[in-house]
Amino acid sequence: MLALVCIVNMTRTVCEAKNVRVIYSSGSGNEMRVALTFDDGPHPYHTARILDILKKESVKATFFVVGENVQYYPDMFDRIIAEGHEVGNHTNHHTFLTGLDRGEVSKAIDGCDDAIYHHDEYSTRLLRPPGGNYDTNVLQFCALRDYTVVLWSIDTRDWAGTSASEIEKNVFANIKDGDIILMHDYVSRKAHTEEALEMILPKLKELGYRFVTVSELIEGR
Ligand SMILES: [Zn+2]
Repeated sequence: MLALVCIVNMTRTVCEAKNVRVIYSSGSGNEMRVALTFDDGPHPYHTARILDILKKESVKATFFVVGENVQYYPDMFDRIIAEGHEVGNHTNHHTFLTGLDRGEVSKAIDGCDDAIYHHDEYSTRLLRPPGGNYDTNVLQFCALRDYTVVLWSIDTRDWAGTSASEIEKNVFANIKDGDIILMHDYVSRKAHTEEALEMILPKLKELGYRFVTVSELIEGR
């Protein structure tokens, strides 16, 4: 049985299971840093649009990619890396990891890791489990392989087809230093992520926020 201890305060939530870190946010409270994250891509259209917007605004983000999508769209994956963004693991087939045995957990995460490494020899030790769901087997795998589990503190709900103005409200309702913002560069239904992003980025800058990758956020850079 794995001991799981969660420490919650105003600016940081860290759960530790042996050496596993489960991060929802990470900040000292007054540095005005946020990490934008995009899950489920790469996608040939939506990832490209998002990368264009990020480039225009000189913003770096973290993309939690699905291994099979990296294999379908290697050029888009290469572009994410070439433009200086961070990449994390979102399993090979968007597999929900709870209830799986250790071999199945390992296969789902390693498959994505292999796809990522195959291109650009990029390696990551950031895992975002699909749905944000994890259990003891997932934590044990992460402990063994030195993965940090990265969740989020602001859910834009773009995955639910939420309008751009509602996404904006979801972001600004509780934004604070150290927040990790959940968005998607692929949603199976019509999403308004890109439109919302164009509204959100200038406003966050106006408020004095700086955009960092998840690793930079965790490391306090
Ligand atoms: Zn996902």
